[in-house]
Amino acid sequence: MSMLPIWQALPLQRALSALAEGQLGHATLITGPEHLGQAALARALAQRLLCNAAQGDAPACGECRACTQTRAIAQRPQCTTAKAGEPACGQCRGCIDALASRHPDLRIVTLEINEKTEKLRTEIAVEQIRKLSEWLALTSQQGGAQVVIIESADLLNRNAANALLKTLEEPAPGRYLFLATSRPHRLPATIRSRCQHIALRLPDRAAALDWLRAQGHDGDSAATALTAARGNPGVADRWLRDGTLETRKAVHAELLRIAKGALGPLELAALWAKDEQLSLRLALAADFAALLSSRLAIGEAVPSPQPDRQRLGQWFDQANACRELLSTTVRSDLALVPLLIAWREVFAQG
Ligand SMILES: [Zn+2]
Ligand SMILES: [Zn+2]
Repeated sequence: MSMLPIWQALPLQRALSALAEGQLGHATLITGPEHLGQAALARALAQRLLCNAAQGDAPACGECRACTQTRAIAQRPQCTTAKAGEPACGQCRGCIDALASRHPDLRIVTLEINEKTEKLRTEIAVEQIRKLSEWLALTSQQGGAQVVIIESADLLNRNAANALLKTLEEPAPGRYLFLATSRPHRLPATIRSRCQHIALRLPDRAAALDWLRAQGHDGDSAATALTAARGNPGVADRWLRDGTLETRKAVHAELLRIAKGALGPLELAALWAKDEQLSLRLALAADFAALLSSRLAIGEAVPSPQPDRQRLGQWFDQANACRELLSTTVRSDLALVPLLIAWREVFAQG
């Protein structure tokens, strides 16, 4: 099977040991910082559980029919959004449809297209979990395990979570559920408490850089991106591929120009209001405030003028609230102006 990065390979090996000892739970919550590969680890475990050849604590053989079928999902070949060499987006029609080309004893639950609106749903709906329960009530088609992966499990809506809870309360031999998420606190405690936990952790910097270079990034860009992503190689890889790193640089420069009085809040609000990536810009802006605050906390140099740490914290919340607000129908320039005026105040003396 394909080589997993070190931060997934070690937890995988521990889970395989647990499996060999009969200690792998029927439900496992896989958590960790975003884009670190929680779902990829779940797929590796699913592949192993369905593999016709692997024994004991060995990983999936990668060659049997079951392995071929499960791998076809992991690659999601029908993505219409990703460019050559990029990972599948997981959201386009092609990606959603690719879930249908599955191993008959594997179900992957993720956001679905709403058939009425033809748009991607923003949460996992209760019908999806009901269908899942009906499927789990059948016996496995190939005589082995039945495996479920719930990707972005934090997006289960309340009814879906309640329906899933019933399934978790009735474990059955040979039935495995994996819930992948980077926001486990958004899951009800009742669900979390019924799962075993696997936590992915950030690798050390050298291992992260090795991996980024193996993805085809040059050493300098990889180092810059990894620092910006606070040591998260999954985020750094994404940012290098989709141009976020450039946007981040621009956002920092624009905010510093406001702080210095070289750019007016109204001007920048007008500029950002026209931008299709406004939500990303606001997330990066909030992150910039957090970054400056953490630098102040450890006595590291920050660009002048000197920001006020308490006001940075308040502005971080304000920027995130603004981002939430703009996901509704509020006119973006109206919401942005007070936010950017407040940003200038963060640097006001006295
Ligand atoms: Zn196999
Ligand atoms: Zn896609």
